[in-house]
Amino acid sequence: MNIKFLDLAKEYQDLKTELDSAIFKTLKNSSFVGGKNVEDFEVNFANFLGARGCVGVGNGTDALEIALRALNLPKDSEIILPANSFIASIEAVLNSGYKAVLVDCADDFLIDTDCIKNALTSKTTAILPVHLYGRACNMQKILDIAHENHLKIIEDCAQAHGAKSIINEKLRNVGHIGDIGCFSFYPGKNLGAYGDAGAISSNDIELLEKCRSIANHGVNTKDRYNHRLLGRNSRLDGIQAAILDVKLKYLSTSNQHRRYIAHLYTQKLSEIPYIITPPSPLYEDHCVWHLYTIMIPSTSEKRNQLQEYLQNNGISTGIHYPKSLSQIKAIYENPNCILHPSPKAEQYAQSTLSLPIGNHIEEKEVDYICKVIERFCETN
Ligand SMILES: *Cc1c(COP(=O)(O)O)cnc(C)c1O
Repeated sequence: MNIKFLDLAKEYQDLKTELDSAIFKTLKNSSFVGGKNVEDFEVNFANFLGARGCVGVGNGTDALEIALRALNLPKDSEIILPANSFIASIEAVLNSGYKAVLVDCADDFLIDTDCIKNALTSKTTAILPVHLYGRACNMQKILDIAHENHLKIIEDCAQAHGAKSIINEKLRNVGHIGDIGCFSFYPGKNLGAYGDAGAISSNDIELLEKCRSIANHGVNTKDRYNHRLLGRNSRLDGIQAAILDVKLKYLSTSNQHRRYIAHLYTQKLSEIPYIITPPSPLYEDHCVWHLYTIMIPSTSEKRNQLQEYLQNNGISTGIHYPKSLSQIKAIYENPNCILHPSPKAEQYAQSTLSLPIGNHIEEKEVDYICKVIERFCETN
């Protein structure tokens, strides 16, 4: 068997007729940047989230930077975020001129709310939770901390399109629970474009209009060349919007398939002594399984050996991430980073391994992958 970690070509084949038609329609009507495709997608994605609005931008990192700029936080602000994330989350904070405060995560891989409390200072102005691997953070607790301390919340939703958190006993989509949500549509995400793309969501229409202006050279919609601020260029491409609009219709189904595959993995792997499976979701929509990440709790060599063994048996896997943010030179040497101890994030960096998940994986692939893992554990 040859099992890819991601199979974007198969996904294209599955939706080829609809995607081709959406792309060629865009070529014919020339709505290449902005225009009807982008407007339609923005409405549909906001509806999917249950948010009041959404603004398409160039990519997920820009979404974070633009959101931070629109919130207009004080210059010497400290922003708290998890040490277990992709570098873009902290890049956006540092490139915006703020101090990044890294805290540890809990057993569910996500930012530990007790660590947030311990890291608060008089300079803290915002929390940037990351719904990592497709799992929604405990937003009720984060909201409570934010309200008590007058903090803004910028949600990094790049891996969690469709994940839900429980707020006042009701399920709510991530992306509009905090003040502002930032999505990436990088091709490998749960909702992926065929190039770079991103979006910002919120229930605050004024804040969204500010984001829209920042992302489009500070354009003043009422007086086009009388720019209201110095912005930048980070607009959503019309072809990408057309593709995203097609794929959005299948997002719930493909998230549901990911849940089914994750459930199968957990069932089959929990019998293998060496392997720690990811915590089960607290409720069905808690996790959209962007990644299915297991742990091999010994040394990183053991994890790397398992990865190599799987590769030799035709199975591609990934490591997310081989270093916690606090272990990356560009970060720990940066004078604007405040690092709190992150033993868990560092432990994850040496023990996690992400298995293939997505529409290209069915029960027979899961069976095979789990058998190979079992064989490795018996002989190593
Ligand atoms: C992918 C990702 C981003 C950045 O998105 P891009 O579209 O690649 O800029 C930010 N945060 C997290 C957690 C991500 O996984």
